Amino acid sequence: MYKPTLDYAQQQDKEDKLAHLRAQFHIPKDAKGNDWLYFTGNSLGLQPKQTQQYIQQELDDWAKYGVEGHFEARNPWMPYHEFLTNSMAKIVGAKPIEVVVMNTLTTNLHLLMVSFYQPSKTKYKIVIESDAFPSDRYAVQSQLKFHGFDTEEGLIEWKPREGEELLRIEDLEKIVDEQGDEIALLLIGGVNYYTGQYLDIKRIAEIGHAKNCMVGIDLAHGAGNISPELHDSGVDFAAWCTYKYLNSGPGSLAGLFVHEKHAHNKELPRFAGWWNHNKETRFNMRQPFDVMPGAEGWQLSNPPILSMAAIRASLDMFEEVGMEALRAKSEKLTGYFEYLINQIDTDRIKIITPSNPKERGCQLSIQVKNADKSLHKKLTENNIITDWREPDVIRCAPVPMYNSFEDVYRMVEILKTLL
Ligand SMILES: *Cc1c(COP(=O)(O)O)cnc(C)c1O
Repeated sequence: MYKPTLDYAQQQDKEDKLAHLRAQFHIPKDAKGNDWLYFTGNSLGLQPKQTQQYIQQELDDWAKYGVEGHFEARNPWMPYHEFLTNSMAKIVGAKPIEVVVMNTLTTNLHLLMVSFYQPSKTKYKIVIESDAFPSDRYAVQSQLKFHGFDTEEGLIEWKPREGEELLRIEDLEKIVDEQGDEIALLLIGGVNYYTGQYLDIKRIAEIGHAKNCMVGIDLAHGAGNISPELHDSGVDFAAWCTYKYLNSGPGSLAGLFVHEKHAHNKELPRFAGWWNHNKETRFNMRQPFDVMPGAEGWQLSNPPILSMAAIRASLDMFEEVGMEALRAKSEKLTGYFEYLINQIDTDRIKIITPSNPKERGCQLSIQVKNADKSLHKKLTENNIITDWREPDVIRCAPVPMYNSFEDVYRMVEILKTLL
């Protein structure tokens, strides 16, 4: 059904019901004013044009009200995080009580492990993917060390088989079957940042829970990209950043999910601050600590409103479009990208991302035989912004919010000439 022509790509853009969204973003341009072909929404999403006005409003209210802005601002700062909760919960398929926006991703993973990594002398190991994002690996290693365990011996890697790139769920099952009595936690990237593989989160939760292991998911490459249905999956916790597919700006705050089954468990060990204390008595100041129910019960500090304003600007767009429409376009757009790459007449190229749309988001990871970083440099010189990963993989994410079929077509045309 796809066709490898510019006409066809432009026709798809004409028929695309989400095509108008592109004009609502700042698309970076070269010196001559040509749009970059931006394929790194998996690393830093582009800026919605309305972000500036959302942040400006909080600056204005701060100027106007000073400290009174906590109550008097048009969007009062005291409950500001609550304005993000419903939209964020929809994006990850959670109930509002299960979600909060706070801190940054790696910090949230640590705070969640304070509660959900409770090792004993015999059940203490942690399972991660062998190609886990470095920050997640460092985080779990430091948790092992903090609890007095050896970081090598305590860490189990779920690896692709010899000669393969992707993970097989049967292999995780085998690890947990054989060593589950020693495993305390599975912490897995829902969408692998390197291969783009979207794992079966529900199945991972079942596998872990069958052996009484806690199960946590890093959704950095999933939130705003796929629909993870976190509540139904049954995972104990999850965390994700908002500056990738959620377009909320460099280093912006992160999301945190704690499953409803833990929402009212006040006995869970956790760190505390005034922001996870009962909000009815927070300002009485001399009350003993009384933890809030749900995900809000993991907050510590009053949050940076300017960053939250940027998240609101983005979430309002997601709210309007809906994940269902985004996913539908995404499958088509990435499918077209895959089709065009497969049309290139060369044996140097291999897509390592799964070809089944249910097992991936928008990203394709393309392995190029005998390539080095100079290919990435040449792509960049041609206004194509991609992510290079040593030794020979280009990661490209056509994002349904702002990338077009024409972007994808032009990118592959240029890639062809560079090979
Ligand atoms: C992007 C990313 C991070 C980044 O962590 P920060 O704490 O936001 O700096 C961590 N883990 C994964 C899997 C990521 O993709």
